[in-house]
Amino acid sequence: MIRVERAPKPAVIEQNQAAWTLALPNAATKKDKTRAEMKYRHPAIKSALVLMFHGKCAYCESKISHIDYGHIEHFRPKSKPEFRSLAFEWGNLLLSCAVCNGSEHKGAYFPEAADGGPLVNPCEDFPEAHFEFFFDPQARLATVIGTTARGKTTETLLGLNRKDLRAYRSRLVMQLCVLSRCAKNDPDAELLLEEACRDDAEYAAFARALVAGHVCEQEISNRPSCLLLKR
Ligand SMILES: [Zn+2]
Repeated sequence: MIRVERAPKPAVIEQNQAAWTLALPNAATKKDKTRAEMKYRHPAIKSALVLMFHGKCAYCESKISHIDYGHIEHFRPKSKPEFRSLAFEWGNLLLSCAVCNGSEHKGAYFPEAADGGPLVNPCEDFPEAHFEFFFDPQARLATVIGTTARGKTTETLLGLNRKDLRAYRSRLVMQLCVLSRCAKNDPDAELLLEEACRDDAEYAAFARALVAGHVCEQEISNRPSCLLLKR
């Protein structure tokens, strides 16, 4: 997860938020309620989020747009009565992949401080203050670890080390490690590494940690000797 600066509120929200919010409690039937709730799916809102997150999931940094439509994610779930008024609040909307936002992971959960929350929000927090990044060269696994209570809760609830995600991410991180070694003598490798750190690159958080040079050998409980990529 990387920090993302929130773009200005789309005009369609500016113009309609009050009316859309008022219509919610006035919906008489289930169908009306669904129709009233779905206003947040306006194409202009989706486009603004895709642009803002460079087509990546706000949480796991996987690219979405080339294989899926992506979810408009309510950071504070609209299904919870206390957050219902935030259904059309621009500051509450993120772009997410279907897995991070699915019922097996974030779904409608929103842990409060007493439960190790709230989740780390890429637009409200500095994610690098909540996570460390590990690469185990023997197992060839790139792992993200929460270093704060909120970071741990976020990593666990969102499944940031879920099997398929970690396997895919690990292959890219391995390539980055090789690029990092080549970049010292090869301008093309240096450029590729630079590109891997940009906001629009998948798993830029790992690339930035690698480039920052905070790499050391460290024994980690229940893990073999790992390279610690620490911001
Ligand atoms: Zn995701």
